[in-house]
Amino acid sequence: MKSFSVIIVGAGPGGLACAKILAENSHDVLVLERKPEAGPKVCGGGITWDGLIRRVPQHLIEGAFPSQYIRSNLQQTVIKAAKPIVATIRREVLGHWMYEQARNAGAEIKTSCQVYTITPDTVLTSQGKFRYRYLIGADGSGSIVRRYLKLSTERIGVGIHFQVPGNFEKMEWHLNDSFFQNGYGWIFPFKDMASVGVYGAKPYINPKQMLSNLKRWTAKQKIQLTGLKPKAGVINYDFRGWRFNNIMLTGDAAGFASGLTGEGIYPALVSGETAARSIITPDYNCSELQRLIKKQQKHLRLVEFSAKNRFINIATMEILVLALRIGLVPFSMLEMTD
Ligand SMILES: Cc1cc2nc3c(=O)[nH]c(=O)nc-3n(C[C@H](O)[C@H](O)[C@H](O)COP(=O)(O)OP(=O)(O)OC[C@H]3O[C@@H](n4cnc5c(N)ncnc54)[C@H](O)[C@@H]3O)c2cc1C
Repeated sequence: MKSFSVIIVGAGPGGLACAKILAENSHDVLVLERKPEAGPKVCGGGITWDGLIRRVPQHLIEGAFPSQYIRSNLQQTVIKAAKPIVATIRREVLGHWMYEQARNAGAEIKTSCQVYTITPDTVLTSQGKFRYRYLIGADGSGSIVRRYLKLSTERIGVGIHFQVPGNFEKMEWHLNDSFFQNGYGWIFPFKDMASVGVYGAKPYINPKQMLSNLKRWTAKQKIQLTGLKPKAGVINYDFRGWRFNNIMLTGDAAGFASGLTGEGIYPALVSGETAARSIITPDYNCSELQRLIKKQQKHLRLVEFSAKNRFINIATMEILVLALRIGLVPFSMLEMTD
């Protein structure tokens, strides 16, 4: 049986960010990905500029938006900044680039390789059994590594979107409770299409209802969905720790995504990098991840408060939009970066 210093389950942004840093620092790393290629994933592809720009070359970015259009039941506002606030990137583009980065750094990556069983020092996969010293669960919201650690997952969000062809100019956020309850609807433009979708958090996650509301809302916005298929996925925001001796969780597997917005790419990148650095340097200070955890918990409190009842939800949304409008809180309050 082949042994590795670190085995990473999942080649999403969390797993590949972790693999690259470990390989660069001479660790023998094996990444196991059940899909035939790294990258494709149901996702709106919106990522905060500050989280992206330090990590990904600019030519991979499709859209960069210094203005954010926000609407609630009673208000609308445009948040403007001198530099982009949120950017869009296609997940397959990000994934392919990160795959190459990790592989060029020396990580071994097996695709079409599903992990079935985990023991304290081995993983059994569709391509054989491998021994590990450290195991990283970077395997998303349905993580087998998380299940092996016996962590339950009660806080789950749902995202549903359509990729609508056409030229969309504005990045929009719609906090309208009759369509989206305590979630929101979005329009995230790319070069020749937009991700148009809805995110909702527990307890308002009836996917059938969410889809039907999304369709009602797009009809109102005069966005044509004829012939398009919706794509959906779950987002785990139930953070219960990430470091369990020689096993670590990153990204959605750890529940690092925002319960408020569903933002999970940046948390996956930061937690993947931190897991790697804390293996390389055991007393690594993890400060970026600690800040992210604080933000994640703030978002959790807000989304759980707004979920108490419809009145509280509408009031929370309106106060939030008002606070953004008059500059009482910055847009970054909604983001997982600082
Ligand atoms: C509709 C929708 C829209 C979203 N929009 C945004 C957005 O605009 N911005 C944003 O920041 N976030 C968004 N998210 C959330 C974001 O996609 C995730 O938070 C992010 O992908 C998490 O990254 P990750 O690396 O932790 O996990 P993932 O990207 O889920 O990667 C996990 C990988 O592990 C693999 N895997 C799983 N189990 C196994 C196994 N047993 N064996 C081998 N491999 C396995 C999977 O195939 C996958 O490739 C959205 C999510 C949805 C559903």
